[in-house]
Amino acid sequence: MIVGERKPFEEIMEMISPHKRVLIIGCGGCVTVCLTGGEKQADTLASQIRLAAKQKGLKMEVAVDCITRQCEREFVDNLKEDPKEYDAVLSIACGAGVQFMSDVFTDVPFLPGLNTSFLGYNKEQGVWEENCRGCGDCVLAWTGGICPIARCSKSLINGACGGTDKGKCEVSKDMDCAWYLIYERLKARGKLDELRKMRAAKDWCKDRGAGVRRLVLKDMVEEEAAG
Ligand code: SF4
Ligand code: SF4
Repeated sequence: MIVGERKPFEEIMEMISPHKRVLIIGCGGCVTVCLTGGEKQADTLASQIRLAAKQKGLKMEVAVDCITRQCEREFVDNLKEDPKEYDAVLSIACGAGVQFMSDVFTDVPFLPGLNTSFLGYNKEQGVWEENCRGCGDCVLAWTGGICPIARCSKSLINGACGGTDKGKCEVSKDMDCAWYLIYERLKARGKLDELRKMRAAKDWCKDRGAGVRRLVLKDMVEEEAAG
């Protein structure tokens, strides 16, 4: 899932202060799961903004809406409020959601209420951890399902480095060494041979190639539509 955290309140107020009618739109996807961008958080943020606006003597009307996902066209029609009737929209979706909505409502300023942080999962109650950088060339098949790109401080493809110490990373002792975890998992599966293979340098073009990365599955979509 995509993990995001709410921007500092002062930054949000600075963004929206010039506007008199503001619509906050929550997203029912990943950011609801990580408790930062859902309907409940949109309502809470709206109350905080109304109070702060009153204290600052700003005349500001704040409304709230929420849709299932802000990154897909089919859900945009479910908006109860019309963004075009507002001076600005504060979207608390991830960066993809904010951009998608901006592309749909090109005349309305869509402002980001979240900082989109990373791809990860819920590690324990209230803690989300990064575990994928969307590198475009997944290696999990031979790393025991543990990502060395996201979870090794040096994104090593042939780890471990010489700094691993009692299972911890030399860059931060608070962090498990990804390659130690990989070693232990492969050992438990009787697959340590995987570690004896020297892997070719990663092709980073698939990660940060020229221009925008795209996934094109037009044929598959047309096949599905045709039944
Ligand atoms: S190898 Fe790449 S695609 Fe696979 S989990 Fe790691 S960052 Fe994500
Ligand atoms: S100690 Fe482990 S996680 Fe840290 S940089 Fe070295 S191999 Fe990567």
